[in-house]
Formats: sequence, C-alpha cells, structure tokens
Amino acid sequence: MIMTNTQSFQAVNPATGESLPGDFYEATDDQVNEACERAAEAFQVYRKKSGPEKAAFLERIATEIDALGDDLLQRANAETGLPLARLTGERGRTTGQLRLFAEYLREGSWVNARIDTALPDRQPLPRPDLRQMLRPLGPVGIFGASNFPLAFSVAGGDTASALAAGCTIVVKAHPAHPGTSDLVGQAIRQAVAACGLPEGVFSMVHGRGTAVGMAMVQHPEIKAIGFTGSFRGGKAIYDAAARRPEPIPVYAEMGSTNPVFFLPGALKNSTKLAQAYVGSITLGVGQFCTNPGVAIMAPCDEAEAFTQAARQAIGEVAPAPMLTQAIQQTYVKGITQLAGLPGVEVIGMQGGETYAHGTAALLTAKAGTLLQYPELAEEVFGPGSVLVEADSREQMLTIARSLHGHLTATIHGTDDELPDYADLIDILEQKVGRLLINGFPTGVEVGHAMQHGGPYPATTDARSTSVGTNAILRFARPVCYQGFPPALLPDELKDGNPLNIWRLVNGEWTK
Ligand code: NAP
Repeated sequence: MIMTNTQSFQAVNPATGESLPGDFYEATDDQVNEACERAAEAFQVYRKKSGPEKAAFLERIATEIDALGDDLLQRANAETGLPLARLTGERGRTTGQLRLFAEYLREGSWVNARIDTALPDRQPLPRPDLRQMLRPLGPVGIFGASNFPLAFSVAGGDTASALAAGCTIVVKAHPAHPGTSDLVGQAIRQAVAACGLPEGVFSMVHGRGTAVGMAMVQHPEIKAIGFTGSFRGGKAIYDAAARRPEPIPVYAEMGSTNPVFFLPGALKNSTKLAQAYVGSITLGVGQFCTNPGVAIMAPCDEAEAFTQAARQAIGEVAPAPMLTQAIQQTYVKGITQLAGLPGVEVIGMQGGETYAHGTAALLTAKAGTLLQYPELAEEVFGPGSVLVEADSREQMLTIARSLHGHLTATIHGTDDELPDYADLIDILEQKVGRLLINGFPTGVEVGHAMQHGGPYPATTDARSTSVGTNAILRFARPVCYQGFPPALLPDELKDGNPLNIWRLVNGEWTK
C-alpha cells in the first residue's frame, strides 16, 4: 500500500536543480498509523509463512524490479545524478540480495534450531524437553538511504532481511528519490498480490523532515527500525526509540571514516597506490559509508612522493553532481572547516561549483595535528580525505588507539612487514567490523561472510550487519518451546528433522 495526502513535493534533479515530473504526497499521522496497524495485522499471517513461501515472495519482488526495466534506471539517474552504469550494477545487487536471501531461506538452517531432549531420569531433577529457534520480531520500520537509491532503499538490504525473517515492513522513502521509491514500491505491491499475501506486508510513506519518520519510530506496533544515513538522524531515532514506553532496537548505520594505514613497504609503489587511494575516495562522488576519509602513512622516505602522487590524482578528478544540494553543501562546509584548522593544507575543492556538484579534496597535515584535532578523523560525506604522515611508529599506534568505532580499517603493507604490525592489527580489530589488507573499503560484497557494521558511532549495535545474510538476525528473536507435544512444534524443531536443516541436538551439530 502506498499512502497519500495533499501536501505535495517534487523530486529535484541534482545535476541541474530542475524539478522532475510527478507529485509526491507527505503522509499524515493518521496515514502512518494506518500503515503500521496494517503491518501488524498482516504480521499475524506473514509470520507463519514457511521458508520456501517467503523465498518465492522475495524472488517475485526481484522479478518485478527487473520488469521495471530502463524506466527505473532513468528515474533513479534523474533523481540522484548517479550514472546509469552504476545504477545498473546497483539494481543487480538489489535483486541479487533478494535472491540470496531466498536461497538462504530455502536452506533453512538460519533459524539456529537447538534441541536439548528431555532427561526424565536425571538426578537430582529431571531435564525437560527444550527446543529453541529464531522467530520474527514483528513489523519493522525502514528508512531508505539517500546514497543507494536501490540497494539500501525501498527494496534494499533492510527490506530483504526483514521480509526474510518473517517481518512485515513500513518504509519511509528517502525524499531525494521519491519517484524511484514509488516504482520499486509498486513492484513490491505486485509481488505481494501475486503471492497472495495481505497488503499490509509492505507499506510505504513519503515525508520530508522528521515528522513522518518519527511517527513511524514511535508507533507501538513497530518492533524494530533499520536506518542508513547521518549520525545525527540515526542517533535521534535511536534515542526516540529508547524513550518509547516499549523501547525497541534500532539498527542505524551511520558515519564512518574507514581509516587506511600505509606501511613503508607499500609506499614504495607510490604512484599506483596513490591513484587507487584517490579512486576509492572519489568513487560515486565519495558518497559511500565505506569511503576512506582518513589515511595515515608510516614515517618513511616514500611518504612525500606518495603525497605528491595523491595530490596530482585528486586534481585530475572532475566535479560531479552529488545526491542532493544539501549533501553537497554539507560536504563543502565540512571540508572548509577542516581546511581552516592550523597546519592543514587542502588540494582540490575550489568553491563555486555548479549546482550540487562536488569536487574532490585532499587535506594533508602532520599526524600531530590529527591527534590535536580529532574532528579530522570525523566523516565528511563526499569525495574528500585527510592524509597524514606519522612521526614515528608509536605515533601511528597512538592514532589507531585514539579512533572511535568505524565500519572498516585497512592496512597496506608487504608480506615481509605485515607480521611486524600485529599490534596495529590488534588495535584496529577492536575498532571496526571489517579489516582489510591491501584493498580499499569501498565495494561491499553481499554474501554470507560480509560484516557491514562496527562499534559506535559507526552503528548503534556493533553485533549486527546491514549487508549479507547475517542481516536477518537483526529482525528475529529466539523462542524456546519447553515440554511441547511433537505435533505442536514448528517443523524446524520436530523429531526426524523434516526440513533437513542443521540443528544443535544435545550439543552436537547435526542434520
Ligand atoms: P539523513 O539526513 O540522516 O536522512 C536519512 C533519512 O532519515 C531521511 O529519510 C530523513 O528524513 C530521516 N531522518 C533524518 N533525521 C531524522 C530525525 N531526526 N527523525 C526522523 N527522521 C529523520 O541522511 P541523508 O539525507 O541520506 O544524508 C545526509 C547526510 O547523511 C550526509 O551528508 C551524510 O553525512 C550522511 N550519510 C551517511 C551515510 C552512511 O552510510 N554513513 C549514508 C548516507 C548519508 P528527511 O530527509 O525527510 O528529513
């Protein structure tokens, strides 16, 4: 169901500043209320669907998205300024993750079934029959992200994982791509109808400003939130959810600067590595949560050549439209503030760019400046990065220790030198969710082993991931069935293992 009202707004093309065709309507409190109530009603039906039934639904959503064809890509391109090639890849990722969750559901072991059979003769007390598995949490509220109009939006990772878990959803569309959101919303509604599910399995509301999203967060029927966006937005939503009469979990993926450490051996290959670093900073006009926003070079003779090569590469990157004018303005303001700190030099951004265009920027400083002004290691969303040279190995470790939580950290080094930096790896492991050696953090593979989450403030729950099949765990909770007659048990927990899933039976993993 797509909710409508009379307060309308238009989408804006960030490449030109022109309004795009189509009116979108901000939901009222009553409409948000209705969406949440229908999600709660539908949950009573959808939560009982089997793995294969939910899998067929997710696959049908993927098919319906594919069927939107070029119209979807053209609209997303007009609303976000992201190139068609990137959007084509992102559509593949979106449908791919829906299909991956479908496979995961058909396999079925994700429910983490655990069985301790009864021990009636145990002394001094008998043990009852205990059987546990994961069950869906309830209706989930999802905030579409601006920077992935498909893969982290209406049918993105939060939607795929919540529906896979057996939850119904209410999506608050991101106001920067309302037309894209409507097209994808229609595809999901068609899949809902084709699979004979209640309409309330999926609802979408539009809104600009905080009111619509907050009404969803505060609705008593909503049992969890998925969010990707700014630290300010994520933290406000987290706090509001904690203040509810019934507090609920908020899985907010917020800011991250993704520190990169360059060791002396790696810096010997300066030019190529500097180009790769700049490529990672500027990919997608820097609008990735995995953008390497800060880099630390070990003290060595090659650091100067690397800095020069990075400066040259950054100067060669053409300005490109950012997602919205507000995001571009926040980027310019952030870089300008950092560039004004004593001892910081900036290469790149000149100011005076055309509407919503972002120009790449490299800020260089001494490592002592980074320690003195920790804001240099804070996220400035866009194609900018801070590059510093440490005075000593110990200072590099001090910087690593001073970092707060991030999604990723990266070390570039040779096979010979990496073992000497086990202490650096050890520090970073406590700061991030994904550690990379000789790679760049942009580009997040969707799979079973991916972790896209990290200690606060990168996310509000470091135990969770918003990418990959483990994302399903955010929207499920364990239920233990004690002393149940076999006929009343879910199939996952029945004797004989009718679904042939992996289960922990009396302490042993078995099929
Ligand atoms: P955002 O401002 O955090 O907004 C994301 C969504 O949350 C929007 O639907 C927004 O609604 C809603 N929202 C924000 N604050 C809220 C609040 N206090 N209460 C209720 N709803 C709220 O993020 P954005 O628009 O995507 O981009 C702005 C900034 O976010 C960027 O400059 C960047 O710093 C950061 N960002 C980070 C990531 C990341 O992955 N780390 C990704 C994208 C953006 P309205 O827009 O209607 O207010």
